[in-house]
Amino acid sequence: MSRKVLIAAPIHPILPRWLDANGYDCTVNETVTQQDAPALVKDCVGIITSTRLQLDKELIDAAPMLKWIGRMGSGMEVIDVPYATSKGINCYSSPDGNKNAVAEHALGMLLSLNKKILKSANEVKEGKWLRDENRGVELDGKTIGIIGFGNTGSALAKKLYGFDVRILAYDKYKRGYAPPYVEECKLLADIFNEADVVSFHVPLQEDTYHYFNEAFVSNMKKPFVLVNTSRGKVIDTNAMLEALESRKLTGVCLDVWEEEPIEKMSPDMRSLLEKTASMPQAIITPHIGGYSMEALYKMSKSLLDKIVSRK
Ligand code: NAD
Repeated sequence: MSRKVLIAAPIHPILPRWLDANGYDCTVNETVTQQDAPALVKDCVGIITSTRLQLDKELIDAAPMLKWIGRMGSGMEVIDVPYATSKGINCYSSPDGNKNAVAEHALGMLLSLNKKILKSANEVKEGKWLRDENRGVELDGKTIGIIGFGNTGSALAKKLYGFDVRILAYDKYKRGYAPPYVEECKLLADIFNEADVVSFHVPLQEDTYHYFNEAFVSNMKKPFVLVNTSRGKVIDTNAMLEALESRKLTGVCLDVWEEEPIEKMSPDMRSLLEKTASMPQAIITPHIGGYSMEALYKMSKSLLDKIVSRK
């Protein structure tokens, strides 16, 4: 029986080493294209993927011996999970592996924005020493609304504990999840009424597409800061830019964009990105929240444990 595995994702070297030690035969090809993938998976029992490949019906059908798919990170929208499951293929993700990296990234961006660290540091590089223009705003005493309280949302709350902030959480699909330092909101309205900062931690699905839109902005009672480390399409970019221009949004910290990467962006999205990125009240990073050195190891280990324990 085949024991072949295609690793089509950046991984920690322990993953193929450990899989091979468990009887698998791994080929690492991080740069495989969607076009070339069918030929490579035809006798594979396992595939490790990230965002490079779409594990759609066509690619799944090209791998008749497939028993499992491992996703480095979260975001299972790259896999047709219902179809894979219907064929008896187990799908594993590893959101536990990068949740801390995302939480640190969200907090880092927020502190950097509020305290004008990135802006003023760039000015110093240009020989400017501007103090009054860079007076910061503290997190202390503010209310942070976390939307989606899974791996990354709860990890951010844990980081915020100790900052003397009020933490509100709203999760549409859970009840009774909040630790003592988090106020669980039954209604999104509680976040609309109270929050100074809103941070999104939801998967991209039908009910989260353009979650942040014109109506969301007008429902918010106070001017606020938006943090998004989830998926770019959760935000209606045009509505966000309008809110920034009207000052209802006082700042944005974005690790994701509605279309990614830059090379695949439509000209309209590209110009919205350039316009937003040029604003001093915007910090945009290229989807690196979960991309820490440690996360690579933790995600590899998380997948390995799941794959090996299925035997
Ligand atoms: P998760 O599945 O652990 O948690 C998501 C939570 O959102 C769940 O508790 C779910 O009940 C809740 N939810 C779903 N729909 C909702 C809705 N309409 N309203 C409110 N809550 C809702 O996911 P996670 O690991 O925390 O990841 C969250 C998002 O962050 C995903 O989109 C993921 O792809 C993304 N992510 C990005 C990076 C990065 O590098 N920037 C890294 C990891 C994850």
